Amino acid sequence: MNHDAASPIGLIRGVGPQRARLLERLGIVTVKDALYYLPFRYEDRSAPAKIVALAVDEVAVVTGKVVAAGIVTPNPRRRGLKIFELTVGDGSGLLRAKWFNQQFLRKLFTPGRTVVLYGVVKRTYRGAGFEMLNPDYELLDEEDADDSGQVHTGRIVPIYRSTEGLSQKQLRNIMHAAVQDAAASLPDTVPAGLIRRLGLPGLQESLLNVHFPAPSLSLVDLNRGVSPYHQRLAFDELLTLQLGLAAIKKGEVREKGISFSPDGRLTGALRERLPFTLTSAQEKVIKDILADMRAPAPMSRLVQGDVGSGKTVVALIALLAAVESGYQAALMAPTEILAEQHYLTLHRLVEELGLNVLLLTGSKKYREDECIASADADIIVGTHALIQEGVSFEKLGLIVIDEQHRFGVLQRATLKRKGLNPDTLIMTATPIPRTLALTLYGDLDYSIIDELPPGRSPIITRHVTEERKGSLYPLIEDEAREGRQVYVVYPVIEESEKTSLKDALTGWEALRMKFPRLNVGLLHGRMKTAEKEEVMRFFKEGGIDILVSTTVIEVGVDVPNATLMIIIHAERFGLAQLHQLRGRVGRGSCRSHCILLSYSATEDARKRLEVMVTTNDGFRIAEEDLAIRGPGEMFGTRQSGLPDLRVADLIRDARLLETARREAFSLMEEDPSLRNSPGLRKTLDDFWGKRIGLLETA
Ligand code: ADP
Ligand code: MG
Repeated sequence: MNHDAASPIGLIRGVGPQRARLLERLGIVTVKDALYYLPFRYEDRSAPAKIVALAVDEVAVVTGKVVAAGIVTPNPRRRGLKIFELTVGDGSGLLRAKWFNQQFLRKLFTPGRTVVLYGVVKRTYRGAGFEMLNPDYELLDEEDADDSGQVHTGRIVPIYRSTEGLSQKQLRNIMHAAVQDAAASLPDTVPAGLIRRLGLPGLQESLLNVHFPAPSLSLVDLNRGVSPYHQRLAFDELLTLQLGLAAIKKGEVREKGISFSPDGRLTGALRERLPFTLTSAQEKVIKDILADMRAPAPMSRLVQGDVGSGKTVVALIALLAAVESGYQAALMAPTEILAEQHYLTLHRLVEELGLNVLLLTGSKKYREDECIASADADIIVGTHALIQEGVSFEKLGLIVIDEQHRFGVLQRATLKRKGLNPDTLIMTATPIPRTLALTLYGDLDYSIIDELPPGRSPIITRHVTEERKGSLYPLIEDEAREGRQVYVVYPVIEESEKTSLKDALTGWEALRMKFPRLNVGLLHGRMKTAEKEEVMRFFKEGGIDILVSTTVIEVGVDVPNATLMIIIHAERFGLAQLHQLRGRVGRGSCRSHCILLSYSATEDARKRLEVMVTTNDGFRIAEEDLAIRGPGEMFGTRQSGLPDLRVADLIRDARLLETARREAFSLMEEDPSLRNSPGLRKTLDDFWGKRIGLLETA
């Protein structure tokens, strides 16, 4: 039977109301959803092995005829436990298979039928022969014994993420039915000429092969999601993504921004207060920024600079340049803790200049007076909640976004809808491939701070495992004796039953006992802003020898006399975060150390920590992080507010992304409202949904 892809999934063979509910949990509501629900990996079950040649503890596929079958009750005292036992033979030997409490199998495996079994090979109890426990199985009908009908065995088999109550086999049967019945009915909305020119396979063929791959396909490519058929589906998605971006951009170009006219009143005062001279890399970037700000077009600039390269002061100068031109400026951080940190850094500095700085984060409901206050604050620091919620700005001229990737094209569109078209400056320690940046942020310019301030001595990093943690106490002692300060960073604030992680409170107690003559301070995210500020100031003044803290110190903390950092449960942190944390030491001219203390680290974690030990280069660390963690976490579209991608991967498919971008922009150029490709236009609307009134005005 053939189905329309838009039909509810319940129309597919074998899907009743109950299964339909289970499928809905997987996000599968229509037949089309099923077609785009791709396997997360594949197994090669195509090569059947001879029974005589089976190897114990290895996975194998065996094809044979049913010799005997029956139910046994192995334990007379447990009458409830019934085992279905099957014996198959392939001419070379006999293989036993057992399933627990699945008596219905008796009806399926009648003697003489041909079956395929897939599972781990074990020795039988008495040791003579082979057996499989709960293997995947398939019965071959006489007519499809030629293998064209095989779904679960005898081929490269798809493995899907499933949900409780729906077995892999049931789900695979449903997917098979869906692909067979409906793949052909799905219209290919991408212009055929384009697909041909790029040498990509057809849509229907691609859907068939990503679910039930042809035998000639490379298992490795399939598992990496880069088979030609995966690439075709990924291309469709990226094309749609880029068409949307092209449409947004079209609405943007005509808009005018602000021509700032900074007079140097505040920026000059800041420069005078700085205890250092700016590096030439910083000066160059500041020059770029000021030129953008003076120009009438809205600035959209990304500043990349490794941890410790001095991005904060660059951001400050931009903020002050906006304020001295008579505008408000906002500084946005990805988390509340980071926003607070920035606030602490900023307001100390800026209060002396007589400015009004306000902190707005999402945790507390904004009080009425704060919302109003935001209208006349000079600088507003906060999380991205500050643009989304009902915060009013009188004259917002500049937004600086620090250390993150979660502010993108769409957020900018949101601001514009509020009638604001501020200049934007994005600061990041993570290098981002250009096309990816264009996708996440729209059009932007780049500046790089490619130089660290002078006089830094490199940080020496070591990985220490739990057994040797006793060796750390003398290190702390030595450092304190020299009058230097120490950070000890914990992953959590307090003990919890859910995890067995070491926590800051317990650590603080322990260190106070161990070092009764030293001052041991405590800092964590649940303390009030004023308390945190107090502790930080005290630490900075040298009143605290050992600061026990959580990752609140990740950014914005700057104490050059701190020369030792110990990170507890280092295996729990991402590389980028470790690099950020480590950047808190090595800020003065004294030699600094960073100790990564791990508790039962996995092989992967050990590899990660090894990267930290071997390099201080943020760019290399970011690359390794990408390679190890995969791109999803770092640059998911979810973070940017763009529609979710089901097939494509912005990092893995970087080249395809570029092609898609080029093609999308030229399509949009030739046919601005996609009049000639109504199918594609519908795909575009479906994909982007209500996020933007895309082509309405076109
Ligand atoms: P990041 O780029 O990681 O945000 P920060 O802005 O926090 O780095 O700066 C790191 C440290 O370097 C801070 O202590 C800051 O005061 C200091 N710093 C910034 N610029 C210079 C400079 N030109 N010379 C010396 N120290 C600098
Ligand atoms: Mg910073």
